[in-house]
Amino acid sequence: MLPCMLTTDCVGALLQTIQMKLHHLPSAVFFDMDGVLFDSMPAHARSWELIAKNFGFDFPYEEVFMNEGRTGFSTINMLMQRTFGRDATQQEIDDIYAAKCVEFNKYPEAERIPGALELLLKIAAQGIPAFVVTGSGQDSLLSRIQNNFPGVFNAENIISSKDVKHGKPHPEPYLMALERAGIDAEQAVVVENAPLGVRSAKAAGIFTIAVNTGPLKPGALLDEGADIVFDSVEQLCSEWDNLF
Ligand code: CA
Repeated sequence: MLPCMLTTDCVGALLQTIQMKLHHLPSAVFFDMDGVLFDSMPAHARSWELIAKNFGFDFPYEEVFMNEGRTGFSTINMLMQRTFGRDATQQEIDDIYAAKCVEFNKYPEAERIPGALELLLKIAAQGIPAFVVTGSGQDSLLSRIQNNFPGVFNAENIISSKDVKHGKPHPEPYLMALERAGIDAEQAVVVENAPLGVRSAKAAGIFTIAVNTGPLKPGALLDEGADIVFDSVEQLCSEWDNLF
């Protein structure tokens, strides 16, 4: 059957299908960061919208969510190409991304996404290593991972935009996670909230659970190939044991 949003109508049949695909516990779980571990996307979206406007681009709030997961470089280049028909210079990329980070850091520290810590502790109790695979290069968030999720992530299990040449939606970030974990794609599971993140994970061949924590319609995640979509991380956490 086709994947679908987790409504009561299809929950039983869908979980049965998922169980057939996931007949064993994964050897590692790869978590996206913004919108999955931290409720940081509203601040990212408002920051991008304002800074883009200051530099002469139109990048509305909702569109930021559709482009979530792109590196700063890729985002700025996309805006430059469609507005001025050329690539951004390195200086422009540095200036605009720095301004966006300054703006983002004016917001209060993003809270943990509800259910994220509980899910990670559940996974840790099963002896499954967790990785962070993020397109972000925000030092403020990366340094907070260890504080907010103590004992869950080893430093080498955090893959950020600084570690890869090609950010999401390219598969490189998730392929690097597979390499660091020393496992094959079918042994891993990804948890993502963004269409481009789902595309990246699926291009790496990994079973992908989407959590729709933002303003998107679930179809935006299914269209990119998400194997299942939950309404929240809390819902995923409560269903986790039923997936295997
Ligand atoms: Ca995300």
